[in-house]
Amino acid sequence: MAKSINPTTGETISLYKQHSPESVRRAIDASAAIQEEWEHVILAARAVHMRDLADILTTRRQELAELMALEMGKPVTQGLAEADKCAWVCHFYADGAQRMLDDLPIETGRSKSYVAYRPLGVILAVMPWNFPFWQVFRFLAPTLMAGNGGILKHASNVTGAALKIDEMVVQAGFPDGLFRTVVLPADRVTEVLDHPKIVAATLTGSDAAGRAIATQAGGLLKKTLLELGGSDPYLVLHDANVDLAVDVCATGRMLNGGQSCIAAKRFIVHMSILEEFTAKLTTAMGGAVMGDPMLATTTLGPLARHDLRDELHGQVVRSVDAGARLVLGGVIPDGPGAFYPPTILADVLPGMAVFSEETFGPVASITSFDDEEHAVTLANDSEFGLGAAVFTKDVVRGERMARDQLDAGACFVNAIVASDPRLPFGGIKASGYGRELATIGMHEFLNIKTVVVG
Ligand code: NAP
Repeated sequence: MAKSINPTTGETISLYKQHSPESVRRAIDASAAIQEEWEHVILAARAVHMRDLADILTTRRQELAELMALEMGKPVTQGLAEADKCAWVCHFYADGAQRMLDDLPIETGRSKSYVAYRPLGVILAVMPWNFPFWQVFRFLAPTLMAGNGGILKHASNVTGAALKIDEMVVQAGFPDGLFRTVVLPADRVTEVLDHPKIVAATLTGSDAAGRAIATQAGGLLKKTLLELGGSDPYLVLHDANVDLAVDVCATGRMLNGGQSCIAAKRFIVHMSILEEFTAKLTTAMGGAVMGDPMLATTTLGPLARHDLRDELHGQVVRSVDAGARLVLGGVIPDGPGAFYPPTILADVLPGMAVFSEETFGPVASITSFDDEEHAVTLANDSEFGLGAAVFTKDVVRGERMARDQLDAGACFVNAIVASDPRLPFGGIKASGYGRELATIGMHEFLNIKTVVVG
């Protein structure tokens, strides 16, 4: 049985029966059979369903936000924004698919030569709980618009969200079974990937899970796309607008309880403004309203699971033991629920847990630097390479650092690192490979076919 536990109370919300191996096989076979017809449905007709899906997300946004609050502790206000973003990505691909999938002529001197973008078949998506709808929709929208089918293995603690997505896809008029959730534990993903009708896989989650799926897929010669962890550095240079930097850093660290791969995690701050930055960040993060995620006034809910909270606290304790200075938080509150308070650690050095490991919660780590080269070295001293940000009034310098010096898949200047349907999203190093979103996100799971007529 898959179990959903309310992280605010620790109570079990629902138990879900897992799919048997036979019903998993049937779901994949059905998706594959439907996909063979679906790829011949004209784009305009596919777009009608995608826009209907966007409307359903908008109409049911409150229900979806409450489900997220219940299953993984996201404050409802943030859940509403997540539902809206899912509707946006549906519209983005419904509107843009024609342009993204048009044949691309290439001059070769033959009578005709071009690239055609053809569907591949059924793609497996293994998804995490932290954005239970957004993570899935940014896969689902380009996949179905491109003519592929999808099998979803969602994180076990958000099975309610997974089944809700199935229901909405059918409600939007997509052929029943083209996209299907299978409820099973992580150690049974192998049987899905093994199925010959699964042609490729995408996984968003930890690097351990990424390695497992990539290893199996490599043996099967099936393409994978991996969106893994991150430990995004935010560099605050001596000439930064400190108030802006603090505002963005606090938001970037606290959004979704800090449980985001692209959350701001390591603050690398010039010595001359260290004291001011630390004091202002303490005020900003300390002002979070921690409590019941169902309340509109709550800005920080519980973490998604008790084990994740305990793991995070362990990272804080190990860092303090290694010499970091606790400025704020760092104490597990009494009472039920997987709550963890806003926490700031100063005097953090490379090698300490909060610097060298990914922290998935509201824990900020502050490290100081004295010159630009030192700042870049610290920023790049990570096994991850997902996002990075630079704060400086010298935007030319900031852009140069962002473009040429920081090792990450997305670098922002004077702004929060955020996903956007129009921009490619993905990482380098242990943050994974491949890109979601934008045109390239749609092309990842297509046969980019060369056609030549002599
Ligand atoms: P996780 O344990 O890796 O779980 C993610 C998904 O992978 C779940 O569906 C999980 O299933 C499944 N899974 C776990 N181990 C697996 C294995 N060996 N083989 C196949 N599937 C496996 O990660 P998490 O702790 O839930 O999520 C947090 C992590 O995800 C963080 O590292 C975070 O940075 C990363 N993340 C990355 C992005 C991105 O876009 N780059 C976005 C969000 C999160 P079960 O739930 O059944 O275990």
